[in-house]
Amino acid sequence: MHLLPSRALLFSSPRFSSSSLSFMANFSSVPPKARLRGVVFDMDGTLTVPVIDFQAMYKAVLGEEVYLSVKSNNPSGIDILHHIENWRPEKQQKAYQIIADFERQGLDRLQIMPGAAELCGFLDSKKIRRGLITRNVKASVDLFHLRFGMAFSPALSREFRPCKPDPAPLLHICSTWEVQPNEVMMIGDSLKDDVVCGKRAGAFTCLLDETGRYTSPDFADVDLKPDFKVSSLSEVHSLLEANFDLTP
Ligand SMILES: [Mg+2]
Repeated sequence: MHLLPSRALLFSSPRFSSSSLSFMANFSSVPPKARLRGVVFDMDGTLTVPVIDFQAMYKAVLGEEVYLSVKSNNPSGIDILHHIENWRPEKQQKAYQIIADFERQGLDRLQIMPGAAELCGFLDSKKIRRGLITRNVKASVDLFHLRFGMAFSPALSREFRPCKPDPAPLLHICSTWEVQPNEVMMIGDSLKDDVVCGKRAGAFTCLLDETGRYTSPDFADVDLKPDFKVSSLSEVHSLLEANFDLTP
């Protein structure tokens, strides 16, 4: 587990109140842990093993030449849905068709991420809510639920607009749960979608970086940092216990 410096962790706690301050005066220096009441997961590449070849999908949608230029202008990743948003309807429909084909192939090979079921069991034992936000379609979320056997609620797919990285879906979940964003953690494998969405909403963020791709020089100049980074979901359990107040 890599614990990144987190301003949010120290200062955004809802319990950082005057009574907490008097607590600190007595016991100096250790701030109270932030309360955690919900965890919101990304689906593809986070709760499921990544099987969609996104670069191949972008290339198929944009064409080789445009793909290369868009890629060089977007070092932290391509937002394909945003990119095709203003295309003329006919061209856009074709693009959605290509995306749907890639997603369907991904579904055929859907596998649950190791550690996902254990983590959800742990959250249940602490009565911490579980939500899901994906840029994939509702049919994929339905199939995932069927295979996984544990429900995430709310589970927002790309029919809910605007999509991640807009904070709207995460804020919607917080208001449904009647909790504050700073009592929630967003966990995902995408810096540009999941971490940005979490940060904009004011939630804690945890980046799942299984392969260490975010330590590559491509990301050296990217300012955005998650609060936490793990290389597998099985690390999340101890991260939560060490850094948060998990009392129901
Ligand atoms: Mg993902």
